[in-house]
Amino acid sequence: MCGIVAAVSTRNIVPVLVQGLQRLEYRGYDSCGVAVHSDGLQRARSTSRVAELQHQVTAEKLEGSTGIAHTRWATHGAPALHNAHPHFSYGRGAHDAARPGRVALVHNGIIENHDELRARLQAKGYVFDSQTDTEVIVHLVDSLYDGDLFEALKATVAQLQGAYAIAAFCKDEPHRVVGARAGSPLILGVGTDKLENFLASDAMALAGVTDQIVYLEEGDLVDIQLGKYWVLDRHHKRVEREVKTVHAHSGAAELGPYRHYMQKEIFEQPRAIADTLQGVQGIVPELFGDGAYRVFKDIDAVLILACGTSYYSGCTAKYWLESIAKIPTQVEVASA
Ligand code: GLU
Repeated sequence: MCGIVAAVSTRNIVPVLVQGLQRLEYRGYDSCGVAVHSDGLQRARSTSRVAELQHQVTAEKLEGSTGIAHTRWATHGAPALHNAHPHFSYGRGAHDAARPGRVALVHNGIIENHDELRARLQAKGYVFDSQTDTEVIVHLVDSLYDGDLFEALKATVAQLQGAYAIAAFCKDEPHRVVGARAGSPLILGVGTDKLENFLASDAMALAGVTDQIVYLEEGDLVDIQLGKYWVLDRHHKRVEREVKTVHAHSGAAELGPYRHYMQKEIFEQPRAIADTLQGVQGIVPELFGDGAYRVFKDIDAVLILACGTSYYSGCTAKYWLESIAKIPTQVEVASA
């Protein structure tokens, strides 16, 4: 599961973006990168650890007050530098001269109709330099851009099939980052200082930066600028989402005394289970959700098909469904 951090601010935001990526390292990744608005679009990418990216941005003196950053877990295209995010648009439209780097974009998820979109964009003169499904999004935003990045993203997501959390900015609008989510998580961090606002995959990425968090909902589009932001829901209606105070402590995402994140997870299991069970008022069917009684009464049996870790989750589900909901459940290894 990859990670996204993005910001608009009045200070150099690169250290915050890279630190945010460090706090998302626990999710796993194969490459990482950061892009900022700095006299055009500038970026640094690495197939090594975020610590290496940190050295790179310092050595290259990468600075900017608007930026996006990403840890990638490859789904389309090998884990390689040219496939690492952020991606830039590069257009050679029928009536334009070559137009490098107008839009920068990061994406978490999978675009199902990327082949069809790529063919259309190539016919328009867009030049692809990665094998990712993500690159179609950045060119599509560029192709629909007419001076308003938010409108371009709105028109873009209407053409996407699949799952995405997206953050993007444009050379022509230096103090604006836009985002969208469907099927992948994205939160908005409301800055408490310096007029700044943030987007991120989870609140942990912004620990120590802001605790004022808006959990975006499925289909939401978000526009962050200096000192202001707004959210549109899936019907493109402006909505006020609740701002929650979230006390994400950075220690939860840091490696601490452990050698790697898997070891940390193993040692944290007793605590995680205790936290999860806090507030549970007995083992009752309501644990399955508000509509559990209504749904369960029409179900005779459940068959779960799963592989690997999801198979083990399925076995836990079988235990719960049979012992609590009294529904006979069978779990099959889907790959067998
Ligand atoms: N599908 C995109 C890629 O392969 C994004 C993967 C991710 O979520 O990290 O680059």
